[in-house]
Amino acid sequence: MPAVSETPVRHDWSRGEVRALFDLPFPELLHRAASVHRGHFDPSEVQVSTLLSVKTGGCPEDCAYCPQAQRYQTGVDAQKLMSTEAVLDKARQAKAAGASRFCMGAAWRSPKDRDIPKVAAMIREVKALGLETCATLGMLSDTQARSLKDAGLDYYNHNLDTAPDFYNEIIHTRDYQDRLDTLEHVRDAGMKTCCGGIVGMGESRQQRAGLLQALANLPAHPDSVPINRLVKVAGTPLADNEELAELDPFEFVRTIAVARLLMPRSMVRLSAGREQMSDELQALCFLAGANSIFYGEKLLTTGNPDTERDLALFERLGLRPMQVVEHAGQEGGTVHADIIETDTTGTDADRPACVA
Ligand code: SF4
Repeated sequence: MPAVSETPVRHDWSRGEVRALFDLPFPELLHRAASVHRGHFDPSEVQVSTLLSVKTGGCPEDCAYCPQAQRYQTGVDAQKLMSTEAVLDKARQAKAAGASRFCMGAAWRSPKDRDIPKVAAMIREVKALGLETCATLGMLSDTQARSLKDAGLDYYNHNLDTAPDFYNEIIHTRDYQDRLDTLEHVRDAGMKTCCGGIVGMGESRQQRAGLLQALANLPAHPDSVPINRLVKVAGTPLADNEELAELDPFEFVRTIAVARLLMPRSMVRLSAGREQMSDELQALCFLAGANSIFYGEKLLTTGNPDTERDLALFERLGLRPMQVVEHAGQEGGTVHADIIETDTTGTDADRPACVA
């Protein structure tokens, strides 16, 4: 059980305060983050999560990192929305494998109103299996958010991606405010939020601080905060940018640690880019307060360490997968459990990137 020394939840961080945390000596930053982590969670437990792409590729957006954007030549074959029955097959397999939450991702700018009943049917049916439900479908109107909530959707993922002052370097087809609006609609509809970003896209440390500041100053901290490390996928603008240097691994750990300090009750998730991380780097991330990973062979647009490697790492580090967590999020007391992804078809580049 976590220790009782809880950290106050704040929503008024200045960029300077966040930057000062980034600038701490590395051992001091990790010590603080580890202390906060164990104040809210059992540091020996890691939530394992995976995702099912229910609609792949053909996205009209221009996210510079994403192989599913229609405009980039990345070799992704666009696929239509899966049938409810096909999704249910996956959900049943997931449940049989021990999942209690099932996440469905679609590479859309936003769902059309005509798509909502189809997705709502999936949600209803998956829910009827006794699974928690999670989705990421792009921007949502308030009406669409309410419809999904009414269908039984528990969680909605929508990332901020990067700092407001770097955003226009990466995406031009929707505004930062559009993202904030969708998150508001999700919260207002009564769903929990999963919201994070991507680092290593050429942003400065100041801008990484800006991303975390924006996340922490949302009206409610996201229940889950995925922190992705850029994976360069051939054909995307960021992969074609030869001047883009790889992010220093210690800087990635710092980002995890600061996320843990700013959002002490959230699940901080290692997401895309984990396959490229050494075991030692992942261990540092766990020490810095990461307590959730994507698990399994594939993670949407990119590869992911295979299950055996994850299990071996857990064994070596004395960690165990979280089965059912007394979630210490904003609402408190909510059960937050695993997602098991069972899709073994397609290639690594066949999955939407916006959901990681
Ligand atoms: S990240 Fe999402 S919204 Fe952006 S291009 Fe990829 S699928 Fe579309």
